[in-house]
Formats: sequence, C-alpha cells, structure tokens
Amino acid sequence: MPIRLLDRLRHRREQRVLQRRAIPAVLWRLTLARLPFLARLAPADQDELRRLSSLFLDRKEFSGAHGLTVTDDMAVAIAAQACLPVLRLGLRAYDGFVGIVVQPDEVLVRREVTDDDGIVHEYDDVLSGEAMDGGPGMLSWHDVGQAGESSAWGYNVVIHEFAHVLDMGDGVADGVPPLADAAARRHWRATLAREYAAFCALVDAGADTLLDPYAAEAPEEYFAVASEAFFVAPLDLRAERPASYALLAGYYRQDPAARA
Ligand SMILES: [Zn+2]
Repeated sequence: MPIRLLDRLRHRREQRVLQRRAIPAVLWRLTLARLPFLARLAPADQDELRRLSSLFLDRKEFSGAHGLTVTDDMAVAIAAQACLPVLRLGLRAYDGFVGIVVQPDEVLVRREVTDDDGIVHEYDDVLSGEAMDGGPGMLSWHDVGQAGESSAWGYNVVIHEFAHVLDMGDGVADGVPPLADAAARRHWRATLAREYAAFCALVDAGADTLLDPYAAEAPEEYFAVASEAFFVAPLDLRAERPASYALLAGYYRQDPAARA
C-alpha cells in the first residue's frame, strides 16, 4: 500500500480512538495535579501528552499481577509518565511491545551468573520495574504510586523503564538509542563514555550524587537513571551534570529545566 494511504488510515483510526476513548478531562486534571513534573508542562504540551496517552492506552494491554486490579487512575498515571519522554518523538518508538504487567510491589527474582571459571552464582535481585525487548514490561505500583513525592530526588520508575525501551529501539541495550546518523552516534558514544566514567569516579569516591549510584552499573543504566532526573528534577541534573543534560535535551527535543 502506498505510504500516504497508510498514513491516512492510521490518522483516521487515531481520530476515532480520540473521539471515543480520550482520557476524561477530570481524570486527566487529577493525574497532572498528582505529578508536579507534568503540571509544569505548557498547556499545549499537556494537550499533546493527553493525546499520546489516550492512544497509548488504546494500544497497550495492562494486566495486574498477584490479584492487583489496574484501575483507570493507575493506567492513566502510567501512560502519562511513559509518554512524557516521547512527547516530541512520537508513539512509534513504543511499537515493539504491547503488554505491561503491573505488580503490587517490588519483585524478587532469582538471577544466575556464570563467572570466568564457569562457576554459577545465584543471587536475588529486587526489581521495581523491568523493560524487555519485544516482551511485556513490568512496573511495581508501589513505586509508580510514589512518583509525585519521589520526583524531588530525581526518581521515576516509569521513565526509567521506558528509557530502556527507547535505548533498545535499535535492538541493543547499550545506552545509545536510535539516532539520526553516524556523526550523532559518535557524539553520543563519546559524551556518554565521558559522563559515565566521571560518574563512576564520583561513586567510587563515595560522593553524594543526585543520580542513584545504580547508574554506575552500566552505560545503559546511566542513560535510564539520568533520563529520570532529566524529566522530574531537571534543574538539579542541569546543575550537577550539564553535559548529560544537554545530551538528553538534544535527544528528547525537550528542555524541562526551562519550565521548572
Ligand atoms: Zn534499568
């Protein structure tokens, strides 16, 4: 089918969804009021976020685990936070998955690693969320529900997991999301490597950092953790890690510090 016809069909379908299933105004206002980093958006951006969130809810399937019922309130709160990073990038960045599993609380998972000598070590991992390439994402409602308060210290589990989804858009979780061209990728890799190394040195020195020390695990975790702070505590991130802030502002095509 010609591209233009496909685009028209998609546009018509979106219009139908928005007519029938737009997030109700009252629930939308309540969602914004609970999340200070969304309340700060310009009115036009709030409208665009509501449009994207409504389409997101139409396309994704939420399921509650361990007896949890995912209410409209919960689904809208997750959708709005998930769509904030793609406000300028569009929802297609999230086309690779459909299911989102909401757990009542953090999840304990048994992990195995094999060391260089072939010995298998088992350990427990506590997860507040998990993003998987092509598979369902997982979020702990306990953590999502605290997003309003935890934004003060730069923490946001939904943005963290959806930053991983964006990172995996080119098939690899390496802290490098799909970028325009080779020059952009070179710039990204060089900046990320510098910022990541500097951050790891701070953590090793026991410094008190805005970003969770977990960001020192790997460059892809640095990207996800810095993305959280970029959207929910932008002034702090810009002050503490200006090069990281500038890199993310270029990628997300947003300047949250200007609205904070
Ligand atoms: Zn992560």
